[in-house]
Amino acid sequence: MDNASEGDRLEKTRSAVNRERLVETAISLISVPSPTRSAGAVADCLAEVLANDGFEVQRPEADWPEAPAVVVRLETGRPGRTLQFDGHLDTVHLPYVPPRLEDGILYGSGASDMKGGIAAAVEALRVLRETEALAGGGVLLTAHDHHEGPWGDRRQVRALVAEGIVGDAVMLPEYLADRLPLAGRGMAIFEVSLSREGDPVHEVLRAPETPDLPAAGAELVCRLRNMNRSLARTSDPWSGCDTVFVGLIESGEIYNQAPVGCTVRGTRRWVTPGRTAAVEAGFRALVDELAAESGTSATVDFQVQGDAFRVSREDAIVNAFQTAYASVSGEELPVGGKPFVDDGNTYAALAGIPALTHGPDAKGAHTLSEAVAVDELVRVARVYAMTAAAYCGGAGHCPE
Ligand SMILES: [Zn+2]
Repeated sequence: MDNASEGDRLEKTRSAVNRERLVETAISLISVPSPTRSAGAVADCLAEVLANDGFEVQRPEADWPEAPAVVVRLETGRPGRTLQFDGHLDTVHLPYVPPRLEDGILYGSGASDMKGGIAAAVEALRVLRETEALAGGGVLLTAHDHHEGPWGDRRQVRALVAEGIVGDAVMLPEYLADRLPLAGRGMAIFEVSLSREGDPVHEVLRAPETPDLPAAGAELVCRLRNMNRSLARTSDPWSGCDTVFVGLIESGEIYNQAPVGCTVRGTRRWVTPGRTAAVEAGFRALVDELAAESGTSATVDFQVQGDAFRVSREDAIVNAFQTAYASVSGEELPVGGKPFVDDGNTYAALAGIPALTHGPDAKGAHTLSEAVAVDELVRVARVYAMTAAAYCGGAGHCPE
């Protein structure tokens, strides 16, 4: 492939993005309410849109028969890499806001997170087929339910990975546009419940050695604060440092009653991939020591939301993305860290494939005021199509 024809292929994809068709798809998806665990109807809607476009649509249950996943492959039949576009069709559990297009801005539930981004990826897929811009390899589009916590547990992504429905790299059109995240922290939500035997009792009627639950909880918070200070030494240039954070402590009913329990909740984040088990073990050890010293019993709920990940700056997907991004926007996107955990963490941890999150500069995710500029959706569709054209490649471009 010489440079001139590669440039031609990229240019063809850029001009082929159809703004009206993209918006129509986004509005169709937003028109179907889909709170997490109830994304069956919108998955059916997306499958119908793709089938009407002439794509062959597969619907693997992927561990959630209520909303089978939507899977489409665009294959060239020639050697090359497979790029996966992946998105979640579910939205957070907030009152439903119907779609509305006003002055070039699209509003409604999921407009930002992330039906707008999925519509852009679908448009990129159409463009790649129409322009025959893939010299080799193919594109895999996957869409699913079960993303948003705490309602979803990511089981569909895990099932897709287990069934081998993955590409050589994955791109996720979530609402992040100001940096290319080459690293992200792992994250777990914890809830520690400390308790003692017996009933709540007036403070003056306590037995002398009755464990002091508010004090035990406070001591736990202090020890976690100390832990947080030493965790700061474990850092990554893009994603920050290890942390433990307490956002809630709860104990007692009234001022002069000795309570039987204390609950402490927060998050633990880490920068080093593959450390999930060790991180959990270290956290549990700290809690167990505190419980033993304070005469309390402790139960720890430690819900891992995703492992840390890193993508090499030299990876072919990063080069392909930056080539595409620079063609569309004039210069490469600065690299950085991913502030949140998304399905990219799961793909990286379970399948070991590089995952790039890049989507529209959209507003209001997880609020009633989601809004995304149609210009941004068009830009994302162009970047996705051109990234695939640059990444999937032709003969000689083998997955590495
Ligand atoms: Zn999202």
